[in-house]
Amino acid sequence: MEKKFQFSLSYLFIALAIFILLQNWLSPDINNVSYSQFKTHVAEKKINSVVISSTLLKGYEKVESDKKEPMFPKALYVTPRIDDRNLVEFLEKYNVDIIAANENTFLRTLLSWVLPTLFFVGIWMFLMKRMGQGAGGMMTLGKSKAKIIAQTDLGVNFESVAGQEEAKVELAEVIEFLKTPEKFTRLGAKIPKGILLVGPPGTGKTLLAKAVAGESGVPFFSISGSDFIEMFVGLGAARVRDLFEQANAKAPCIVFIDELDSLGKARGSGMMGGHDEREQTLNQLLAEMDGFEVNKGVVILAATNRPEILDPALLRPGRFDRHILVDRPDLKERVAILAVHAKGIKLDLEVDLEIIARRTPGFTGADLANLVNEATLLAVRKGKEQVEGTEFEEAIDRIVAGLEKKNRVLNETEKKTVAYHETGHALVATFRKTAEKVHKISIVPRGIGALGYTMQLPTEDRFLMSKTELLEKIDVLLGGRGAEKIVFDEITTGAQNDLQRATDIARSMVTMYGMNEKLGQVTYLQQANQFLQQGLFQQKEFSDQTALLIDEEVRKIIDERMVGVKETLVEHRELLEKIAKVLLEKEALDDEEFKALLGEGV
Ligand code: ADP
Ligand code: ZN
Repeated sequence: MEKKFQFSLSYLFIALAIFILLQNWLSPDINNVSYSQFKTHVAEKKINSVVISSTLLKGYEKVESDKKEPMFPKALYVTPRIDDRNLVEFLEKYNVDIIAANENTFLRTLLSWVLPTLFFVGIWMFLMKRMGQGAGGMMTLGKSKAKIIAQTDLGVNFESVAGQEEAKVELAEVIEFLKTPEKFTRLGAKIPKGILLVGPPGTGKTLLAKAVAGESGVPFFSISGSDFIEMFVGLGAARVRDLFEQANAKAPCIVFIDELDSLGKARGSGMMGGHDEREQTLNQLLAEMDGFEVNKGVVILAATNRPEILDPALLRPGRFDRHILVDRPDLKERVAILAVHAKGIKLDLEVDLEIIARRTPGFTGADLANLVNEATLLAVRKGKEQVEGTEFEEAIDRIVAGLEKKNRVLNETEKKTVAYHETGHALVATFRKTAEKVHKISIVPRGIGALGYTMQLPTEDRFLMSKTELLEKIDVLLGGRGAEKIVFDEITTGAQNDLQRATDIARSMVTMYGMNEKLGQVTYLQQANQFLQQGLFQQKEFSDQTALLIDEEVRKIIDERMVGVKETLVEHRELLEKIAKVLLEKEALDDEEFKALLGEGV
């Protein structure tokens, strides 16, 4: 880019030089004389016409009227023009034609105006390039810096992605649509435009997106949210436009936006107010998503590990309204991932992938890929013919040490506590009529779940909840801590988020839904204004005494429910032990496995 740029500039200078020479050549050798000499020549009738310009007088010789006038008559005499009032009179006396110069100001304009402009444009472009890291020459300005190129033949399909069965099932429909859109459009079915893959880094979100493209054989556009955030306001939005233009042209295709959160943070979040550039880019993305037709064949997959900070506008129907959880792999999945990555290497027959998988709880797919690679490198360093178990052991120790620093690996006691905790939730859910049924229990550390992430789907119009439902929801939330208390007679911080949510429900019952006898059918809190940040501006419309009463009643609800929860768990203590042990072993149970463990009659 830089080379080319300098190149074209030097061309420009050469052209300019030639032009100046030409100009000189076209107005050739002139006879410079003094002003009085010039007048003398006029008086001697050597000059028959005079061209007067602002600076010069040019005298031309007589041209015979029957002769054709030369195109560029040569000036015989040239002299600087002096402020001479009698000049015209003098010339007329000798019958000289007076011609006002049709001045050729082109060159001067060029020099005085165009050149400086060119100069500044040059400097500006140079700076642009510096700052935008090659943000493009004049022509590509406003287009993306690195052209977004559709990838085809990625060589990735669902086989390359081990585990993630749920995600695959969800994505299968998209593949089907991309392969045979007619099948869907014929019945008027609408395929989701945007699908959000949610999960910690390294769990294979990018890989899944590529696999969808690979499986359906369509082009794959990939860009990271942070790429959109340019230094110059407006460029990010331009890139979005550019991306969708290209995607539309190549439809059916897949657009993958990694790190959606860096682009789609809630607008106006943060104390300093909005970030103009990001906001513009986000608005452009929303506009584009709304703009293209549903069944045009462009499917947008986006990945994030922080869905809770996304702008709610991004999650509305018609945008990223479908969410797929891409979580850390459990034991079985880890074995499968190891197998995928061990395919290409020479493995000692003694190496048991299951043992490795057992030793790597909390590892993501990327960690496991890294592990296989590290082990192989170690074997190479030792000059071995095959990768043996010892190399894996060594590599695990190394990686675990790194991950422990990042707090991602549970030790044995923690794992046990979590197993009982989760089983507690699941059992209480089983023995409460209105509670949602258990879909999956897992003790795989989840980057998101542990921090109390709940997918933010609009729930308010979906649920009309009864008092019983709300109370039983509290029960399920308390089930975790209840189990810990019963089994270990100890409580941990792991339940903090559960307690928070349980308290929130209890408080809402008391203050908003009028479900408490002492406080009556009165609403004590106005729902926070939607446009203000929630929680910040909740108005208090009651006395301190009432506040005290509210706190007491909330506490009473929680305490009472905890008693019931413990009763349930004590009653089913055997199940609790049995299921927790299996969970500890397998790390994850799906609904069928769980049901089987519950046995008949439950
Ligand atoms: P993310 O996009 O979620 O951060 P990636 O898709 O970039 O994660 O995964 C990084 C790498 O980890 C992949 O290229 C792949 O080698 C490996 N990997 C992750 N998950 C899996 C999986 N389920 N099966 C096989 N390999 C995986
Ligand atoms: Zn819990």
